[in-house]
Amino acid sequence: MESAPQTQSRSPRIIALMNQKGGVGKTTTTVNLGAALTLQRQRVLLIDLDPQAHMSLHVGINPDETEQTLYHLLTDDAVNASDLLHEVRDDLYALPAEVNLAGVDSELAQAAAAGQAQHILRDKVRPILSFGADGEPFDFVLIDCPPSLGLLTINGLALANEVFVPMQAHFLALQGLSKLLSTVNMVRQSLNPNLSVTGIVLGLHDGNTVLANEVMGDLAGFLEAARPMDVPWNRAEVLKPPVRRNIKLAECPSFGRTIFDYAPLCPGAQDYRALAQSVLAMKS
Ligand code: ADP
Ligand code: MG
Repeated sequence: MESAPQTQSRSPRIIALMNQKGGVGKTTTTVNLGAALTLQRQRVLLIDLDPQAHMSLHVGINPDETEQTLYHLLTDDAVNASDLLHEVRDDLYALPAEVNLAGVDSELAQAAAAGQAQHILRDKVRPILSFGADGEPFDFVLIDCPPSLGLLTINGLALANEVFVPMQAHFLALQGLSKLLSTVNMVRQSLNPNLSVTGIVLGLHDGNTVLANEVMGDLAGFLEAARPMDVPWNRAEVLKPPVRRNIKLAECPSFGRTIFDYAPLCPGAQDYRALAQSVLAMKS
């Protein structure tokens, strides 16, 4: 018997990398996990929601030389996601940010009051998910959120179906987590019933220090306690491996290169390769 032709398009995993703290590895993970996934034959779209535009620079897009960015996408009805879609590597695409994005929260505040500003990103990005740039659908969308819980992050969460929380296993790592999780909960209840926190990514990891082990123990206990609860993080796991602190990861953004272009054999590249395999193996 012949099998029926596949007419249904796959829907991508859409993951928001979110933590209102800065310097925890959101951008580094968005870029290098995304690039590692392309090495596993996945088609990946990266979205830069941070006005600092570090993600855009990291993949080699200069926001000053780019006509259309997320700022235009979110504030101009006539701009479509395909207008700002850049192919930055084989199978790796990006929607860039710029500094003006910082004004979007206040520009959209009135529309937000009317409940209309929270899904602009979702409505604008959905049309390119199943068709991509050249007719092929994306397998993954990774959203680099800004270090805040404002309207930009809410737009990211309205589009996403998963949240990864990058963090560092150090003093005060869990501080702020309850605020983050209650934001996810609020978005799940009001905008996006499909949203769950599925992964914690440990970055800038210093190995087996007493402190790191203690923090990881606290985190594991916190996640275990949530298993029987009806909360959006009840199936979250600490993804393996933790990404070790590796200077090459800090060097490559200024060259506009991913770790796989810059130092493909270094520990940072190894860790992101292994992380991509864990992400692909997750039951979603
Ligand atoms: P965020 O986006 O959360 O603010 P970044 O990804 O920009 O965090 O990381 C903060 C800083 O730490 C950056 O300078 C980045 O290059 C560096 N960095 C991130 N991860 C690592 C790592 N595993 N090893 C060394 N430096 C890292
Ligand atoms: Mg960042």
